[in-house]
Amino acid sequence: MIGPIELGIEFLEGLVAIDRSIVDRASKKPCQDCGGPLYRGDYPRKPRGGTIAVMIEGFDRRFSLCCGREGCRRRTTPPSFRFLGRRVYVGAVVIIASAVAVTVMAATAAARATGVPARTTRRWLRWWKGPFTVSGPFVELSARLVPAPDRQRLPASLFERLAADGPVAVRKLLGWLAPITTTSWPDGSRFLRAVM
Ligand SMILES: [Zn+2]
Repeated sequence: MIGPIELGIEFLEGLVAIDRSIVDRASKKPCQDCGGPLYRGDYPRKPRGGTIAVMIEGFDRRFSLCCGREGCRRRTTPPSFRFLGRRVYVGAVVIIASAVAVTVMAATAAARATGVPARTTRRWLRWWKGPFTVSGPFVELSARLVPAPDRQRLPASLFERLAADGPVAVRKLLGWLAPITTTSWPDGSRFLRAVM
């Protein structure tokens, strides 16, 4: 079970450090298209954190890589613990506010507790119940957790199955979800296992 929590600066800076180690490791690999060298080519982000993640100054850049070879310049964005795809809210907030919206009956109460508008969490809940259930991480989790987590209560049902609480559980979930935070990195989960 998870309620509205405020993530501290130490937790948030920890996510920045994890993302930095992921991009450092990814930058040592060659370009997937031409084998050229990969250089840092971050792009700016202006994420929101609601009332859950307030101190996200370190979240102003999505770490990314760019092929250095003239004529290729392919962009590769490695997985992230901070950003869940292109969503404007940081990944931890998407997870927590969604879990709160599932557990708290009144949408207005959930919105007040998390600082995320009800229409935004409604959209996220459609994603958890829909596209997420056919994603690699969910298929893998369902196979490992017996019985499988209740799809109608995602992501709260995932929290209930974790042998952890609060921020520790959030970081664990972010690790599981990391392979789907980008589409330009192949074989995300195997790479992540090496980093984690
Ligand atoms: Zn290249």
